[in-house]
Amino acid sequence: MNSVEERLAAVRTHIDSICRECGRNPEEVRLIAVSKTKPASLVRQAVEAGQADIGESYVQEFLDKSADPELRDLEVNWHFIGHLQSNKIKYIIDRVCMVHSIDKLSTAKELSKRARAKELTVDYLLEINTSGESTKFGISPQELLDTAPSFFDLPSIRLRGLMTIASPDPRKAPGEFKLLRNLLEKLRSIAPDPSTVTELSMGMSGDFEEAIRAGSTMVRIGTAIFGSR
Ligand SMILES: *Cc1c(COP(=O)(O)O)cnc(C)c1O
Repeated sequence: MNSVEERLAAVRTHIDSICRECGRNPEEVRLIAVSKTKPASLVRQAVEAGQADIGESYVQEFLDKSADPELRDLEVNWHFIGHLQSNKIKYIIDRVCMVHSIDKLSTAKELSKRARAKELTVDYLLEINTSGESTKFGISPQELLDTAPSFFDLPSIRLRGLMTIASPDPRKAPGEFKLLRNLLEKLRSIAPDPSTVTELSMGMSGDFEEAIRAGSTMVRIGTAIFGSR
C-alpha cells in the first residue's frame, strides 16, 4: 500500500486534472481529508504532507482524535461532517472550523446559542437530502427554500453553503450534484450577503470527479487517502 503522502498527492493531482478539463481553477476546490475510523498517526502524516483540512464524522471519535497528543503540535482545521445531535454541539463548538451537516432549524438554533455563549462565529453548511432516500439525513430541497430566512436570522453562526451525500448510483449522482448547485443559487438570491454563501460540499472518493464538474468547492475524501475502512 502506498503512503498517505503518496495517496494525497495522487488525489490532489487528480483534482487538478479534473479542474483543468472543466475549466476551473483548482484553488476553488478545497480538499478535506476524512479520517474517520483512522488513527491520529495517519492524520499526522496527512497534516505533515500539507493537508490541514481534516474531516471527522463521529463526535466522540472527533473529540478523542483532536485532543490526541500525537497531533498536539500541529495546526489542524477540523471539519465536522457527520450527523450532529443538538445535545453534542457543546462538546465540539470550539474545536471545529466548519460544521457541514446541520439538518434542522433546531440544531442550527443550538449551534447559534452555543457559539454566542463562547463569543465565537461558527461557519456551517446545511445538509440537503438531494437523493430523496429516506435513509439519508438532510433537509429536503423544498424545505430549504421555505425555511432559509430563519437560518440567516440566527446570530453568531454563518450559513456558508450546502452539503450533500449523493446516491451511490453513478447514474443518479450527477443530477443530485447539479440540484445542489441550483439550490445554492436560489439560496444566494435570498441571502442577506450572497458573497458569503458560496460553498458546495459535495464529492467523496467514489464520485468527486462528477462533483467537481458540477461545481463542488469542497470534496470530502476518505478512502482514497487513508485506505478502506
Ligand atoms: C466517510 C465520509 C466521507 C468520505 O467517504 P469516502 O468514500 O471514504 O471518501 C465523506 N463525507 C461524509 C459525510 C462521510 O461520512
